[in-house]
Amino acid sequence: MKAITILLALCLLLLPAAPTHAWGFFSHRLINRLAVFTLPREMIGFYKANIDYLTENATRPDSRRTVVPGEAARHFLDVDAYGDSALTKHGLPRNFADAVARYGEDSLMRHGIVPWQVAQMKGQLTAAFRAHDTDRILHLSADLGHYVADACVPLHTTRNYNGQFTGQRGIHGLWESRLPELLSTDYDLMVGQAAYLERPTEAIWQAVAASHAAVDSVLRFEREQTVLFAADRKYGYEERGGQTIRTYSRDFVRAYHRQLNGQVERRMRQAVRLVAAFWYTCWVDAGQPDLDKLPRTPSAREQERLAQEAARQQAPAVSVPGHEE
Ligand SMILES: [Zn+2]
Repeated sequence: MKAITILLALCLLLLPAAPTHAWGFFSHRLINRLAVFTLPREMIGFYKANIDYLTENATRPDSRRTVVPGEAARHFLDVDAYGDSALTKHGLPRNFADAVARYGEDSLMRHGIVPWQVAQMKGQLTAAFRAHDTDRILHLSADLGHYVADACVPLHTTRNYNGQFTGQRGIHGLWESRLPELLSTDYDLMVGQAAYLERPTEAIWQAVAASHAAVDSVLRFEREQTVLFAADRKYGYEERGGQTIRTYSRDFVRAYHRQLNGQVERRMRQAVRLVAAFWYTCWVDAGQPDLDKLPRTPSAREQERLAQEAARQQAPAVSVPGHEE
């Protein structure tokens, strides 16, 4: 299985680079795909039959950001907007209604809702398993995988998400896209069997806390490397899709990566592990339905709905508040 997984992962690495949001399209696809291989025997047949669906649709929530009101907020949480106690038991309420009562919905949406979004979708995916609803199981598994993975990204937990307050604009794409695109062939992303989450809501809040704890080094190491690199060595030019673009140089990326000492790999492993754990926990909590009795592929109606959603995303983008850079 390991050899197959690595082969699949390598195939994915040949996919072209895409615009960045969250982990970047490349990493979101890889995370959802690798999560499939950690599932137990009773689940893996169904998920493997749909592995291309789960891979391709791993990025759908990012594609929706500019056309669905309220979508942008689902991808992040500005922990530092709520003070030092934000993640303690006296801080942000785990229950969304309690959080709305305390802060108001406008404020919550402005500073992101990713952990509440994941907790809500945990319930929805469990219900879809209980209803033996193939379309919803697939749809919700792909989307849930995306939001769980976003919660594992340090820069998704801070107001300074693109280094815009510290003169480090561009660091978002550097950490989550440029770095894994260049270096993830060296990552060990095998994470073993999916684990059952006794307390799924707490698990996603812990993931946010671990991400937030890493924000300081994400920013500080970039600053320290910048001091060591002259501007003409920090950036370079590369061909992408027939265009020449200015981007972080390979030398700078490698130096930053060395100083991060495996941090991106660790957060990506955590994302694979947690995506799989959420899928597995939903299935267990639904009473372990026999997935081999379900239709193996999305219905014609669901395919049609996906095509319509993709068409809507071609519509002119609207301005979306929240981590829009
Ligand atoms: Zn996202």
